[in-house]
Amino acid sequence: MPTLHELASFLDSTLDIGAIPDYSNAVNGVQVANFGAINGVATAVDFSTDSVNGAINCGARLLLVHHGMFWGGVQPLTGHRHSRLWALLTHDVAVYSAHLPLDVHPEFGNNALLARRLGLEASGGFARYKTIDVGLSGVSNISTRVVAERAGSLAEEFGGRLVSTPFAVDRMTRAWGVCTGAGADSDTLREASDRGLDTLIVGEGPHHTAVEARELGIVILYVGHYATETLGVRALGEVLAQRFKISSTFVDNPTGL
Ligand SMILES: [Zn+2]
Repeated sequence: MPTLHELASFLDSTLDIGAIPDYSNAVNGVQVANFGAINGVATAVDFSTDSVNGAINCGARLLLVHHGMFWGGVQPLTGHRHSRLWALLTHDVAVYSAHLPLDVHPEFGNNALLARRLGLEASGGFARYKTIDVGLSGVSNISTRVVAERAGSLAEEFGGRLVSTPFAVDRMTRAWGVCTGAGADSDTLREASDRGLDTLIVGEGPHHTAVEARELGIVILYVGHYATETLGVRALGEVLAQRFKISSTFVDNPTGL
């Protein structure tokens, strides 16, 4: 069975953790160490009491998450934060987090997998952040309704539902942008307009983005922050399972968003 060091070295280099910029609270890489060998990995979108319990219940010694334990900033280790840390340590469960490095990975990143799931072939980047494109873009000749139906089935699979700005039934999507998670904001809309995109597929976004999108002639499909970010951690868990001959279990805790 691999050690945490072996798994983390593989993840750090595969995801290029050191080179990809991120928000300061992301703290990509190992967030909690452990002592024993890693027999199995539990994957989850969010670090939470439920995902910690899910990892313990399936006997995994590693919890791999997209939104890590410091996502909410510096907070006292009291109440539920103390209890879940105690549970991790007493069960010798390590935590590894991968935020933007997982969003952008070309093979099992959230954006690549969402585009593939929708039947869209990417030809470029989208959603600029510092030195990287977090999302993807491409051209297509597909009915917006068909894209919406495919997106809706993903949303429902993970406890959510598709929300979209209005569009005509015969509308076609010819230039699209994908950005999972909180992908719709004034910056991404401006970028979409500059790039001539007609359809944005995102996890979520504030209400004003729907208003702006209509002004710009862009349709936004809000597929769900949670649903769009289940793709990467699950795929990465399978990569670890195959490479290191360990078990991989997805701990599903939909947020409804
Ligand atoms: Zn996210």
